[in-house]
Amino acid sequence: MAGQLGGIPILVLKEGSERMRGRDAQSRNINAAKAVAAAVRTTLGPKGMDKMLVDSLGDVVITNDGVTILKEMDIESPAAKMMVEVAKTVDEEAGDGTTTAVILGGELLKKAEDLLEQGLHPTVIALGYRLAAEHARKVLKGIANGIDIDNEEELKKIAQTAITGKSAEAARDVIAEIAIKAVKAIAEKGAEGKNVVDVDNINVEKKVGGRISESELVQGMALDKEIVHPGMPRKVEDAKIALINAALEVKKTETSAEVKIRTTDQLKSFLAEEERMMRRMAERIKESGAKVVICQKGIDDLVQHYLAKEGIAAVRRAKKSDMEKLEKATGGKIVSNVEEITESDLGYAGLVEERKIAGDKMLFIERCKNPHAVSVVIRGGTEHGVDEAERSLHDTLRVVGSIIEDGKAVAGGGAVETELALRIREYSASLKGREQLAVEKFAEAMEIIPRTLAENSGLDPIDKLVELKAAHEKGNKNAGLDVYTGKIIDMWQQGVIEPLRTKRQAVDSAVDAAIMILKIDDVIASKREEFRAPPSGAGGMPGGMPPY
Ligand code: ADP
Ligand code: MG
Repeated sequence: MAGQLGGIPILVLKEGSERMRGRDAQSRNINAAKAVAAAVRTTLGPKGMDKMLVDSLGDVVITNDGVTILKEMDIESPAAKMMVEVAKTVDEEAGDGTTTAVILGGELLKKAEDLLEQGLHPTVIALGYRLAAEHARKVLKGIANGIDIDNEEELKKIAQTAITGKSAEAARDVIAEIAIKAVKAIAEKGAEGKNVVDVDNINVEKKVGGRISESELVQGMALDKEIVHPGMPRKVEDAKIALINAALEVKKTETSAEVKIRTTDQLKSFLAEEERMMRRMAERIKESGAKVVICQKGIDDLVQHYLAKEGIAAVRRAKKSDMEKLEKATGGKIVSNVEEITESDLGYAGLVEERKIAGDKMLFIERCKNPHAVSVVIRGGTEHGVDEAERSLHDTLRVVGSIIEDGKAVAGGGAVETELALRIREYSASLKGREQLAVEKFAEAMEIIPRTLAENSGLDPIDKLVELKAAHEKGNKNAGLDVYTGKIIDMWQQGVIEPLRTKRQAVDSAVDAAIMILKIDDVIASKREEFRAPPSGAGGMPGGMPPY
């Protein structure tokens, strides 16, 4: 077999493929990544601007949220896509700090370019950046302060910092309060008494109409659904709830099973049979003891009628994700066959009630079996407003969640980044090899955050950075930029506080992406081919796999 390999070039590029090597490849990648960072820079901080994104269908998103902007942008370049991944990772791990991470990543690459110019090898730069990142972790851990998670005021400051600058800022207090209550309600004790917060357990419903400040926390589940039949009760107390993921309908005759009806008698008995089956469904539900039915699929008019006659309330076409939350909240079990439903499958809620919110009916399932179940109903004047408020709430929930889990926070407003710059610079002086230069550049790169905060607030970035550095050199580790007055103040006292996790994740992900991009010196891009199904019999993969 080996003989067959002889003479075959190891890599033959298809005609039309692109290949770029060495500095060209590096420059191109670095520039693409920097462009992504530049795109989100103006949104950083309380005075950051919003972006309006219009997709190819003309749908508009207005946002200030880094990860949302990048997800919506139609990005082609692979290096730029890696920066988008940075934002996504930070969003998944910390929920906030996405813009910070992308800006840091861009700046690390910009500084790396200087080093490349000076003739430093990418692996040396990577080594220096890794050393600096490790040191950054230590510094962060050292400067972080403990947060008393039972102190509502402290939690509120952290929640409010996450919302500042978002369009939901007008309702900062309300959103912060809702977020804290919601997270506290779902926090559970995990192994070794540690708090565990899974914000997926918080059900968020959006309702256009009213003001953001009218958003509310519901102890239980809120579903954007109305009771299907006018004859059904609107309010059920002590409700046993059936969760069903099958259609409460008689399957319409399918093409494969043709039924021939020739006489009126046959038609009558056919209809009677259908009716009997549907009555049976309602009876089975009644026999189980359920007073409320939440169905993931449709409910036939006739079944609705029979359920209404039995005084059973029902909603249909509930979302799958909501069904899963309802399982948790009510302690019920989703059943897929009505015939098999028993009392032990039913969930429980002290109150199930349909109420009007902003002119629309919603179903509230309260006083649930699981007291941890909560929902937030987000309100707002416009759809864009509600969407952006939901994004702010998302960040805030995650931020409060990480504080409740970790109990550690750092000062914002550029304070933590300035301190990191100072300490990493000191650390670089202790190093001997060439990587020292990279560590020093890493320190410089951290300063992009206070600089950008100043710029976005219309302040002179150089002056502010000089003042900030001076304050930190004097030992004020929490000195940051008050973007409203331009003064350098103690951010911790000011209540501008962020979770340690957010900052750690932002730095880690930025470094990872920068190093990854930096180490690429060969880009081989295949020619884009429109996929065509292989001709039959040509031995192509069945099922339409794209060609390799
Ligand atoms: P990210 O996506 O990185 O969270 P944001 O636009 O939310 O970006 O901005 C976060 C930055 O704004 C952080 O550095 C934070 O410390 C800073 N910040 C938030 N509130 C204030 C404030 N009141 N004064 C100064 N800086 C603030
Ligand atoms: Mg933020």
